[in-house]
Amino acid sequence: MKIIDRLFSDVKDISFWEQKYPKRNLTKDQIVTRFAPSPTGFVHMGSLYTAFISSKIAKDSKGIFYLRIEDTDQKRLIDDSVKLIIKDLKDFDITFDEGKDIGGSYGPYVQSERKEIYKSYVKYLYENNLAYICFCSEDKVNKIREKQIQNKERVGYYKDVDPCLKLSEEGILQKLDNNESYCIRLKSPGNYNNKFKYNDVIKGDVNITENDLNIVLLKNDGLPTYHLAHVVDDHLMHSTHILRGDEWLSSLPIHLQLFSLFNFDTPIYGHISPLTKKENETIRKLSKRKDPECKVSFYKELGIPNDVIKIYLMTLANTNFEDWYKNNKNYNDFKLSFANMPIGGTLFDVEKLKSISVDYFSTLTAENIYDMLYSFTKEYDSKNFERVKNNKEYLINILNIERNIERPRKDISCLLDILKIFWYMFDDLFFENKKYAECFICNKSIILNYINNIYNEEDTEEEWFNNLKEYALSNNFSKNKKALEKDPTKIGTIADFCEILRVIITTSLNSPNIYYLMKLLTKEKVLERVTRFYDIVKNNE
Ligand code: GLU
Repeated sequence: MKIIDRLFSDVKDISFWEQKYPKRNLTKDQIVTRFAPSPTGFVHMGSLYTAFISSKIAKDSKGIFYLRIEDTDQKRLIDDSVKLIIKDLKDFDITFDEGKDIGGSYGPYVQSERKEIYKSYVKYLYENNLAYICFCSEDKVNKIREKQIQNKERVGYYKDVDPCLKLSEEGILQKLDNNESYCIRLKSPGNYNNKFKYNDVIKGDVNITENDLNIVLLKNDGLPTYHLAHVVDDHLMHSTHILRGDEWLSSLPIHLQLFSLFNFDTPIYGHISPLTKKENETIRKLSKRKDPECKVSFYKELGIPNDVIKIYLMTLANTNFEDWYKNNKNYNDFKLSFANMPIGGTLFDVEKLKSISVDYFSTLTAENIYDMLYSFTKEYDSKNFERVKNNKEYLINILNIERNIERPRKDISCLLDILKIFWYMFDDLFFENKKYAECFICNKSIILNYINNIYNEEDTEEEWFNNLKEYALSNNFSKNKKALEKDPTKIGTIADFCEILRVIITTSLNSPNIYYLMKLLTKEKVLERVTRFYDIVKNNE
């Protein structure tokens, strides 16, 4: 028996699939693109950003946006993640025209259900002397690699590096008889010295070196690698544009080569720059493991509306959006363009997002915010739900203060903030707050004694704070809010102690660092202010 019959005996010819999945009946301006996640968990900001751009580009062109599940790495699967992905994206109005759990004529839309299809295309390459069987174990591949590094050679399976290329027909059949594990590799006809430019629709011209690596097409578990699956699927599903993270840019030579070896029309590629974060003066990729702001749940728990996130994503995706949005009301009317997408890393700044949120809340009606607050507290802030539920009119009146005017108040950045801002409008919260009169007035001797006997103008900031802390702790103040909650006999926190000083000395809660102010004023003046403050309070009693 010939190897080809042995490996691909009941495999269909590619013409079968080509007929089964005919060209889509669309005009040339209609964009077909997809979101192709590996089902390994929740949607994070990076994947939301890619999905958002892809769906918007397709929808703006009245094209097709579909969901393909790339589950060829079976080690990394997480149950239920397909449902979660669909739900998470739907919350941002990202919906699919076709896909897993949605339907469509180009399915199955899950790669593990398309094994038969990939085999046909591998057979085609094999028949055309563009693929071969490789029995190298992982260990063997690593050894060859180490040797290449030692000899200062380029690393990888290219040209005739792979010993399996020399196996005879009988040798191969024997190994198959012995049930040896194998994969199928591309027999790359590429030349490493051929360089050319490719015009990426987002990045512009990028330099490409022709691929000469005999990359794996089918793994030893019978599933395809990303390279093969991407090319076969996007061809058969007739994607016009491949919009994906730019970590794939380095694999582009392989993909261009495969499209050409199959004689398929090559789609248009656009590589999206990653979202980044500034940390200690360096810029790195936003990380779903390290950065809480990478999780969509982070915003849900704060009560930042999805609209705000979409506006921010639009701001990041197109550099001209922000100006456009100043003169237009509905952000959905904006048309994303490739030309205005950033080509380098895109800084994801939570503070910027919050400032968009503040503007957004300032445009809503009090009733609208109340309804959002109601749903939010019900789901994420249950200890405040009853308060919100029972005080509808009162809260709407509070939210209405300075709202329906030309320059409305801008003080709400998220729903979680609302009761933190307006707590003092509720008696129970107000009177239970330790900062109330008790804190200011009953502690005359504590404050005066502090200034007279503890405060030292010569102290460094650190000494000053340590002494203040020690003094406050030994005078019935507690370390922090948590400790205060545990022991209600305490007067307040150390932070409260500083605030009492701050208000007495400056009459303001928003002053610069009080250590420096006191130093500049001199101890004498500080003492005078504190003494006069308590004199005035006494005279008014
Ligand atoms: N499954 C790939 C990923 O999650 C998709 C890349 C693509 O869009 O082609 O990175």
